[in-house]
Amino acid sequence: MRVGVVGGGQLGRMLALAGHPLGVTCTTLDPAVASPAAQVAPAVAGPYDDLERLATLADAIDVATYEFENVPVASARFLATRVPVRPAPEALEASQDRLAEKRLFEQVGLSVPPYAPVDDPPSLGAAIEAVGLPAVLKTRRLGYDGKGQFVLRDVVRAEDAWRAVGERASILERFVDFDQEVSIVAARGVDGTTASYPLTRNEHAEGILRVSRAPAPGVDPSLQARAEAHAHAVMERLAYVGVLAIELFVAGGELLGNEMAPRVHNSAHWTIEGAVTSQFEQHLRAVTGLPLGGAAARGPAAMVNLIGALPEPADVLAVEGAHLHLYGKEPRPGRKVGHVTIVAEDEGALEARLERVRAVVPTA
Ligand code: AMP
Repeated sequence: MRVGVVGGGQLGRMLALAGHPLGVTCTTLDPAVASPAAQVAPAVAGPYDDLERLATLADAIDVATYEFENVPVASARFLATRVPVRPAPEALEASQDRLAEKRLFEQVGLSVPPYAPVDDPPSLGAAIEAVGLPAVLKTRRLGYDGKGQFVLRDVVRAEDAWRAVGERASILERFVDFDQEVSIVAARGVDGTTASYPLTRNEHAEGILRVSRAPAPGVDPSLQARAEAHAHAVMERLAYVGVLAIELFVAGGELLGNEMAPRVHNSAHWTIEGAVTSQFEQHLRAVTGLPLGGAAARGPAAMVNLIGALPEPADVLAVEGAHLHLYGKEPRPGRKVGHVTIVAEDEGALEARLERVRAVVPTA
């Protein structure tokens, strides 16, 4: 099978690497000639909306998918006229707009923090009345890793918030004093079968994921079934094929939907060494119509993102159970350049190893 991946970042790279043992070849499309994926797999270089390049990609593949959600929907639709596109362009569309996403969550019975759409300064005033403060103003489109967001604590800063999001269509969302942040990553095959990974507990700083642990320690185990039911309901509704991630807040014992990604997700990188089937293999199995693999954890696992700077590989690899994954990217402040996955026999050993890894990972 030949899979086309729109986007050639680290997710495309790890999909391509996971494809090799299965005999699945990934060809990526990315504007950068030396993208992380292009270093390990065939690639087409060009903008995501270049129909000629998209046609070149379509000619070389049996099925298309994506590794980031801001692929133009028109490009996905164009590809769909030539090859199956999985997940379908409708799933991409729903995840590109925070308002559509929130409505979708509500439709499947997943609660969300109180929110209101904001289109201009007067509607921001009305939204503050409706939602209350503190709240987070987020652009509806094209925000990621905390970009395009402003935490609004005082009404006098409403104008600053509006400017901070670029005076663009946004939503105001109640600030949640959450107990934990978790994500559910699940997959649905062409035949409608599903598989869900254990809930993952995530730690963010400055809007960027830093550390994930799975199966989520300290999280009420009854939330697993509920999170899975929500993920499955979203996938059913979208006739979804592939891996889907939903980020959730745990607050007062309840789950609140934050956002979803129609793709493999940073919070499930631990599955590479920590689960029966990695999320990357799982996604390829799903989109190529192969049977899904087991999604159970092999034991406690963790993941540390390498952000802005690279560690000394030997320092990381000296830690038992630690595995290094570099993305072939030039370090820049705030940029994800790799990650470390850590596995252990029990949670105590995992925490000790995680401490040792964190001690040798530079922060930038
Ligand atoms: P997002 O891009 O929506 O995933 O936001 C990035 C991070 O900002 C989240 O993972 C949270 O840590 C934080 N955040 C986003 N929305 C809220 C909220 N409504 N209440 C509290 N923290 C939030």
